[in-house]
Amino acid sequence: MNDGVPDDVKNEIFAALRFGDGEVERKGGREWPLSGDEYRRYGRQLIMPEVGLAGQMKLKNASVLIVGVGGLGCPAAAYLAGAGVGTIGLVDADDVEVSNLHRQILHGTAKVGMSKVESAVLYINGLNDEVQCIPHHERIFPENALGIISQYDVVLDCTDTPASRYLISDSCVLLRKPLVSASALRTEGQLMVLNNPPRPAGDVHGGPCYRCIFPKPPPAASVVTCGEGGILGPVVGTMGVLQSLEALKVIIATSSEEDTPMELDEIDAQQQQQQQRKKADPPNLLLFSSFSKPMFRSIRLRSRRADCAACSAQASVTVESLNSGSLDYVQFCGVSSPVAALQPSERISVKSFAQLIADSEQEVHFGRPLAAPPVVLDVREKVQFDLCSLKGSINIPYSVISSTDPSATGPSATWVDELRRIPLDQALYIICRLGNDSQLTVKRFRELALDEGGRRRIVDVAGGLKAWRDKVDRDFPEY
Ligand SMILES: [Zn+2]
Repeated sequence: MNDGVPDDVKNEIFAALRFGDGEVERKGGREWPLSGDEYRRYGRQLIMPEVGLAGQMKLKNASVLIVGVGGLGCPAAAYLAGAGVGTIGLVDADDVEVSNLHRQILHGTAKVGMSKVESAVLYINGLNDEVQCIPHHERIFPENALGIISQYDVVLDCTDTPASRYLISDSCVLLRKPLVSASALRTEGQLMVLNNPPRPAGDVHGGPCYRCIFPKPPPAASVVTCGEGGILGPVVGTMGVLQSLEALKVIIATSSEEDTPMELDEIDAQQQQQQQRKKADPPNLLLFSSFSKPMFRSIRLRSRRADCAACSAQASVTVESLNSGSLDYVQFCGVSSPVAALQPSERISVKSFAQLIADSEQEVHFGRPLAAPPVVLDVREKVQFDLCSLKGSINIPYSVISSTDPSATGPSATWVDELRRIPLDQALYIICRLGNDSQLTVKRFRELALDEGGRRRIVDVAGGLKAWRDKVDRDFPEY
């Protein structure tokens, strides 16, 4: 052939291209570190100087654990699998629901009802069969956290509860694993690489842990409101993609001496020196606000806290305390179940409430109804109220109610004045999405003296619109 390319070069290229077919594994006694299929598959990232052959080999030998196969875990898993991370562990106890699909991109309509880990394994195997998937079809608890996390090199926290965040971070400190932590809610997200480098507790050169950044959990009531759960797919997707990127960077930056698995009770001095020499990036908190300009901000984080309960010299979190169950993460983060602080007389079931409405709609003698129509206050945010609402209900969002200060002097809020004008013999029925905010509202109304010293009844519609849909009106939209 006279196309200008020497035959020996051409033969070598053809030989390399045929690797994947299993026809040629060696040429002239040379063995390539990756298969022909791998050269082809990862070619576009192999030629990146940030990766190169050495980086690809580290990815191939690495194992990453993804805790939570939801809005964060799905895109993270897809990109890590695509990049050729050798082993991916997946932890999740949940099944795929149709309301997951707008953001959890590994799952699909046909997989509704399937476990999320099974669905993710199917997807990853379809994307890249070089990747070994290890499904952990369970929730992460103090009892299993160390056992699962110890099997992996890098951990991604893709969960959405404070209790699991503290547990995963504590476990990563104890096992000396770098942790890529992200969260997303509504239009915003956060990202941090924690415990990097993963030095033992008490070593000031180690990266800060989750407790260093957030020594105290957020108030439980702020975590469980009916307003929560709103999220835009690309927002959480962005954070998950960034988690995968940070994980790739952590793996590629790992020196080969660090590849050897670490024993819990054994500190390798040589390895420590290696880590000391290596300078990890200063820790940052990346904030993503998708409706702001600019959308990204980065905050420099301080190093480990001298008094951190997990990673300082005076740490109280130990393997023993974790294993013994003496660390109650749910308790630490506050009880997150419904508020339930109301008297039975302050609550009504959705069935009784429906009867009340039916009575008021039923005309009796002289065209007058049996009862006055109940005053129904829907305390969901306006955007939810606009989606669907009970006929005749009035919208006062809980965010407005909770921000009204009962002790403030001066003119009260307009909505308070309007409620006061309602005749005292008419009860106020409070409803929300799930029945939490409505209970808080009843308490708040008492503080605002809207019960007029007990002369007006303020009643929580138990279980909210979810219960209404489940027990009264199957056609009421579920969202
Ligand atoms: Zn710490």
